Amino acid sequence: MSSSGDLLNTKTTHVALFPSAGMGHLIPFLRFAALLLRRSDCRVTLITINPTVSLAESRHTSQFLSAFPQVIHLQLELLPVDPATVNSDDPFWLRFEAIRRSAHLLGPLLSSTSPPLSALVHDVSLVSPVIPIAQSLSLPSYVLFPASARMLSFVSYYPAFASGFESSNSGPFEGGLVRIPSISPIPKSSIPTLLLDPKSLFAQILMEDSPNLSRLNGILVNSFEGLESDSLKAINAGKVSKALPPLFTVGPFPPFEFEKVEWSTPTTWLDQQPDGSVVYVCFGSRTALSRDQTREVGEGLVKSGYRFMWILKNMIVDREDYDDLKDVVGSELMEKMKGRGLVIKQWVDQGEILGHRAVGGFLSHCGWNSIVEAALLGVKILAWPLHGDQGINAEVVRDSGLGIWVESWGLGCGGIKSNEIGERVREFMGNESLRRRAAEIGDMATQATVVGGSQEKTLGRLIQEWDKRKMAKE
Ligand code: UDP
Repeated sequence: MSSSGDLLNTKTTHVALFPSAGMGHLIPFLRFAALLLRRSDCRVTLITINPTVSLAESRHTSQFLSAFPQVIHLQLELLPVDPATVNSDDPFWLRFEAIRRSAHLLGPLLSSTSPPLSALVHDVSLVSPVIPIAQSLSLPSYVLFPASARMLSFVSYYPAFASGFESSNSGPFEGGLVRIPSISPIPKSSIPTLLLDPKSLFAQILMEDSPNLSRLNGILVNSFEGLESDSLKAINAGKVSKALPPLFTVGPFPPFEFEKVEWSTPTTWLDQQPDGSVVYVCFGSRTALSRDQTREVGEGLVKSGYRFMWILKNMIVDREDYDDLKDVVGSELMEKMKGRGLVIKQWVDQGEILGHRAVGGFLSHCGWNSIVEAALLGVKILAWPLHGDQGINAEVVRDSGLGIWVESWGLGCGGIKSNEIGERVREFMGNESLRRRAAEIGDMATQATVVGGSQEKTLGRLIQEWDKRKMAKE
């Protein structure tokens, strides 16, 4: 006979979270975990890979685990992968594939977890390898999607899209557009370049995984009605694809205390600047512009006449980024930038910066986490999508009115001159109606996160579903 303590233990909602590589994938998982841990009725197991691709990932994970010592931490040991067998040389894509190939090791790792698990929430790049494992453990499995609901529509539609490369002379486009049921058309120029090549690793993963999305118990998105209501409504109404399982709109995820960086963030400099006067520039955690384009950005910021805070990345993987700021930017440009802005070649607490009263706009590559953070803090965006899902995310920025996108810059990492950058930044920073619209979106985002808001309700619904399934199993 079990004691009441054991009974309570068995009844606890216990979720295993399994992110994949890269900060853009890790951060939403850690924030989602922190949201669950705010509730007294939830336990969390976090599965990580060691070593991580970037230093930022291992630091963030350590900070999270120190802040939440009650979290059970499991490490999955990866099997070696011969890079010659993977069609990518990007370190993060190589890691995605390595995790896929080692996913079967998850079963033994999770089988003895206590209290018994209620659900497994995993990365979108792990759909096909992880579903059979969850099934073998009689666990419901959910994906935490790291991009917009609009991008999710495209992911679910991808096999139909890709079949167009073979079946029709005009390819998968009708008049240069992808037409997904109930979603406004997506132009070819917004589609991730890798998905225009059916042989790329990204395309191969989607060809295998998209048809399996229907086998998931649900998909969680870090989004909210005020940002992309059309896509969310269309997916929820089952109009986009029969293959999509139920959608849980659990966003917007706020940044948490555990994310604060050890060294003091540059708020001292921001404190000295007037309200809304600074343009914050950051292209995410894993995008490095060429040296030439980097310098054009710097010159452009100087030419804009606005104060700026620029987070500069010189390498895709932070561990390999040894170069001095002066060498990357050049001493002439360093001199010009003096007194006008702050250039930082280090990890910063972006949430803190975006929330500072001096920041009036964000020149962003449109990684989804960055967009949601700006939306939540009511900061307008000048979209400069560079690769991957960022073009489709930039459409959400434009369509919601959170920001503007200079579409003539295209989806790419180069060739934009400083005069053009300076002019666009100046126009953007001076755009008062955009500021007001971003503030409205910020209010809607806040409404979603307050007690009794859509986030709490959706989380409650999800936990209820997990508990019901667990009880039915026992
Ligand atoms: N970020 C940060 N400090 C940095 C660079 C990035 O806090 O110096 C965070 C940013 O706030 C966001 C994440 O890293 O939460 C980057 O994810 P996103 O989806 O925006 O872009 P990705 O890095 O995946 O391209």
